[in-house]
Amino acid sequence: MKFVDVILPLPLSAAYTYALPEEQQAAVRPGCRVIVPFGAKKFYTAIVVDVHGRQPQGYAVKTVWEILDSDPVLLPVQLDFWRWLADYYLCAVGDVYKAALPSGMKLESESKVVVNSEYAGNAVLSEREQRVVTWVSRRSEPTVTQLQKECEDFRVLRVVRSLMDKGVLAMKEEVKRSYKPRTEVHVRLSETYFDEDKLHELLEGLGRAPKQQSLLLKYLELAGAGTAFRLRNPKMLAEVGRKALVEAVGGSLAICRALEEKGVLEAYPYEIGRLAHTEVTETIGVSPLSEAQARAFRELEEAFARHPVCLLHGVTSSGKTEVYIHLIRQMIAEGKQVLYLVPEIVLTTQLTDRLYRVFGNRMGVYHSKFPDAERVEIWQKQLSEQPYDIIVGVRSSVFLPFRHLGLVIVDEEHEQSYKQQEPAPRYHARNAAIMLARMYGARTLLGTATPALETYYNVRMGKYGLVELTERFGQVRLPEVEVVDIKELQRKRRMAGPFSPRLLEEMRRALENKEQVILFQNRRGYAPMIECHTCGWVPKCKNCDVSLTYHKGLNQMTCHYCGYTCNVPTRCPACEGTELVQRGFGTEKVEDAVHQVFPEAAVARMDLDTTRTRSAYEGILEDFQSGKTDVLIGTQMVTKGLDFERVSVVGILNADAMLNIPDFRSFERAFQLMAQVAGRAGRRSRQGRVILQTKSPDLPLIRQVTEHDYFGLYVGQMEERQMFVYPPFCRLIYVYMKHKRADVLDHLAAEMGSRLRQVFGSRILGPDAPPVARIQLLYIRKIVVKVELGASLAKVREQLLYLRQNLMAHPDYRSAQIYYDVDPM
Ligand code: ADP
Ligand code: ZN
Ligand code: ZN
Repeated sequence: MKFVDVILPLPLSAAYTYALPEEQQAAVRPGCRVIVPFGAKKFYTAIVVDVHGRQPQGYAVKTVWEILDSDPVLLPVQLDFWRWLADYYLCAVGDVYKAALPSGMKLESESKVVVNSEYAGNAVLSEREQRVVTWVSRRSEPTVTQLQKECEDFRVLRVVRSLMDKGVLAMKEEVKRSYKPRTEVHVRLSETYFDEDKLHELLEGLGRAPKQQSLLLKYLELAGAGTAFRLRNPKMLAEVGRKALVEAVGGSLAICRALEEKGVLEAYPYEIGRLAHTEVTETIGVSPLSEAQARAFRELEEAFARHPVCLLHGVTSSGKTEVYIHLIRQMIAEGKQVLYLVPEIVLTTQLTDRLYRVFGNRMGVYHSKFPDAERVEIWQKQLSEQPYDIIVGVRSSVFLPFRHLGLVIVDEEHEQSYKQQEPAPRYHARNAAIMLARMYGARTLLGTATPALETYYNVRMGKYGLVELTERFGQVRLPEVEVVDIKELQRKRRMAGPFSPRLLEEMRRALENKEQVILFQNRRGYAPMIECHTCGWVPKCKNCDVSLTYHKGLNQMTCHYCGYTCNVPTRCPACEGTELVQRGFGTEKVEDAVHQVFPEAAVARMDLDTTRTRSAYEGILEDFQSGKTDVLIGTQMVTKGLDFERVSVVGILNADAMLNIPDFRSFERAFQLMAQVAGRAGRRSRQGRVILQTKSPDLPLIRQVTEHDYFGLYVGQMEERQMFVYPPFCRLIYVYMKHKRADVLDHLAAEMGSRLRQVFGSRILGPDAPPVARIQLLYIRKIVVKVELGASLAKVREQLLYLRQNLMAHPDYRSAQIYYDVDPM
């Protein structure tokens, strides 16, 4: 009897053991997928991690239902990587599995909601219940998630449950469709005619059906059987598409069908890939490096000789991409693979087109916005004999299989979005990539104009190598940053909406010269807040502890945390006052303001609301690139890695909004955002200009931005972090606790806090309510654990896991959520 230990796509840390069916004992190896039953009525695709003969004791072991692979879909190093992630980020290895594999590779059952066939139609229903029943009957068998989406109500499940109790609705389990390869019909010669004499006989016999004869002759030609029909090795016949064959003889499908009915040809489905094929026709792609770039390239070579991880610190527009391209070419020449990581928002056609021109078919793009089936095919290609030499991808591409990874490039390594927030695994793709590279014995190159302070600290401590590019490509100077004190201007009422007179002047000049303008405002929507002028009442989300943002286009107020929307009241519900005023500027309102001042200018807005789809996002960028748009307004989306020729003016409308965020990283982030958006100005011939509007012009940070003084920022921030003990002078782990009842949660949080203090002493902060203390009806508490640098992480993890397990076992806290966020961002 043989058994397999498997990982299930569930938040479970342990591997589960199943028996292998008698007749299939030999086929399975670690890394293969199997389908196993788990829980009531459910089955899952699990990953085999061990095959053995040890009969589990103490329970009746279930049997594997189906073996999906004969060859592993997961390489041994990937399993090690999964285990490391689960261990380091304090989550279940099942969570890692869930995040790692494209969903098309995981068959699952799902619950569908249906109207109970035995329902007699006589139940008394509330209005809400009636609504849900209507939804269910309108949709054909919706899943719970579909219902939640459609009803825009995540509590709908509760209504469904009560409707099930009343016998109105029922649930049924079904297998979720998995990945289906794309196929087209091909034809092949039946085995009967592999015999040459028979084939000749057949062809002669077809003299009376000349169309069929010529089609068959064409087939033999295309299949490579040769004119003499020497079927030396019939198995070697080439694939022939039915449609192509019919077209080649200019005939109709019926002719081919006739041959199929006679048993001469057989039709069969043939898998065709979905992946893009871009041939490299010429090597216009590679540009010679400038002197500075060539020097950086050589220095990197030397730095890598001493450090497996290096930082390329190159100012904005210094041409880092070109240096990467040369490195990648070198790697490929050595027969190694490259993983090129980019933050989601930077993965534009601007970058991929550039890389396709050099690498063509040798490059695959892995993007979360691409169809799942495409991601499955990239995964399969990576396992094949001819994997991609280079994968350009977002965070999750660290999970792809590589056979001989030689280099990982993490572009814009400082980007906060590399950290996954929800759900687990809450991993940081840059740090995970460094570990992945280490497991492969590969190098890691971190590139950015504004390194994360932790990264720079590692450089200073001698852990990472450093190479700098201090000048822009083509000797363009860094933009001139001019600070405008808006406090004074607001007092004197000299602001025109969000614009200072200086910014207006610069915008006007740019537009007159047919140059472009970027305006950065880090709030989307129209007005971040609505307030009753009489009593100060502010509309809040009913599910979350935040005020609602007014969106003018929708004429609605929206919660940016849970998506709840409602109409703007005409009267204040608190005092009946009718004067509701809008406070603050969101991107939508800035857009209005630009229209008012420059009615002729073509304006575009780039934020979450205007870029729901990839094509919308790229449309906005294309229009800006081609000069169709004059002014681009946006949230932090406009600060990332974009390369435009004609941008001469960048306006930072309100620097203070970034500085006032209560987080030890807010200054670092504000600097990065401002330096990056400033870096979009004047990237070609002329020096650009940045107008930085702030109410606190005297902050050292503002000076550091105007002087492009990254090192000044580094030194200042390091002093503070050392003094108050924040990373890199400790490791942070946040403990999050959530519950629908505030009183239960407070008890839990207090208990957790005191136990943590017993174990870790004074380096515990909290419990506190985070700035947004309730999201989607769940109250939230947070405890900060500062782990001393010398402490054994393994031991800390063990203690934290034990504490959680212990508390969750308490009957009061069963329905609570407790999770850890390691190295939070
Ligand atoms: P960074 O990523 O450092 O901000 P980019 O890689 O976007 O900078 O380069 C800035 C601009 O300079 C781009 O338009 C790029 O095409 C151009 N450029 C960089 N290096 C070269 C080179 N060696 N030859 C020609 N153009 C280059
Ligand atoms: Zn009021
Ligand atoms: Zn909400």
